Amino acid sequence: MRLPVYLDYNATTPVDPRVLEAMLPWFTEHFGNAASRTHLYGWTAEEAVATARKQVAKLLRANLKEVVFTSGATEANNLAIKGVFEKYSYKGTHIITLATEHKAVLDTCHHIEQLGGEVTYLMPDANGLITPKQVTDALRPDTILVSVMYANNEIGVIQPIREIAAVAHAGGALFHTDATQAVGKLPIDMVEEGIDLLSLSAHKLYGPKGIGALVVRQGVEITAQMDGGGHERGRRSGTLNVPGIVGLGKACELAQKEMSAETQRLGLLRDRLEKGILANISHTFVNGNTPQRLAHLTNICFEYVDGENLLLSLKDIAVSTGSACTSASVLPSYVLKILGLTDNQAYASLRFSLGRFSTEEEIDFALQHVVEVVERMRVGSAV
Ligand SMILES: *Cc1c(COP(=O)(O)O)cnc(C)c1O
Repeated sequence: MRLPVYLDYNATTPVDPRVLEAMLPWFTEHFGNAASRTHLYGWTAEEAVATARKQVAKLLRANLKEVVFTSGATEANNLAIKGVFEKYSYKGTHIITLATEHKAVLDTCHHIEQLGGEVTYLMPDANGLITPKQVTDALRPDTILVSVMYANNEIGVIQPIREIAAVAHAGGALFHTDATQAVGKLPIDMVEEGIDLLSLSAHKLYGPKGIGALVVRQGVEITAQMDGGGHERGRRSGTLNVPGIVGLGKACELAQKEMSAETQRLGLLRDRLEKGILANISHTFVNGNTPQRLAHLTNICFEYVDGENLLLSLKDIAVSTGSACTSASVLPSYVLKILGLTDNQAYASLRFSLGRFSTEEEIDFALQHVVEVVERMRVGSAV
């Protein structure tokens, strides 16, 4: 059986063979515990972790002391939000976030509410964007944190991060961003942009699953959520996942080198797919239709088709409806609902996300497949 063409890079990416190659020795020959300070096995592992820390820091213009390795972006978001809440609750207990955040932020904020904190969920416009003014208007004297995602995982829209960070700081709050979909895709400069805390995950940028980081600017304190041996300067205990960390570092290094060429190439392929669909299939529109969005992704609504049938009929391509993280449930995507789509429109929306190994042939094949399937489904209907 032929595998479907993979167009779901926002859900996860394959490990780049160069990343895998860098990781392999750290499972076997160099298996030491990076916290072992008494012998060469430990020192070697510690050195590899230090190199990876530099590679991650360099991509974001952070300091290597600021990188805290975690099990992924879910943990990084938990650590950022709960860690700041616990540390600074003597100052205030109000947090501002966005209604279209990933569940890893939204559910953490719900937990904060259970603990007695207050959370404001900002509503974006019909394209998924918020304005710095909305943040300013929501700020209160007891606001301790503003958490706004860099780029949305479902529709790819990029928030005005620098401006939002500036108004957060003007209001005396810290600024956190879930940058999981932006790291390695967009040039990020934590210093210039005024980002205090940033979450990322390796498996969204051609690294392995189960490893990520929270980058915490110097001077910003967080309460650890995992107590133990005091690893990561007391911010996240637990024996370091050395092969994973090496893989994340290598993935960051590759992303830094290849980002601009890759963005350009994928932008052309994405435009080819998007324009092809819009031109060849009537009653279609782009969700999050703004120039402020990631180059490798398009989320398209196909009106007057049954969403479930559509996905089932598209056997030759792998795409998602709504967010992969909520695909276990049959609810329409809350992100698309917030943009103003009806349930049916949300169900009949597909996210195509391209990546490093996408080819022109694959895109042309996908386009043809989608056109054929939608035409077949609409035969006999009034459209
Ligand atoms: C994938 C993703 C996460 C979760 O990352 P994990 O490393 O899988 O826990 C969080 N936020 C966004 C925006 C994501 O795309």
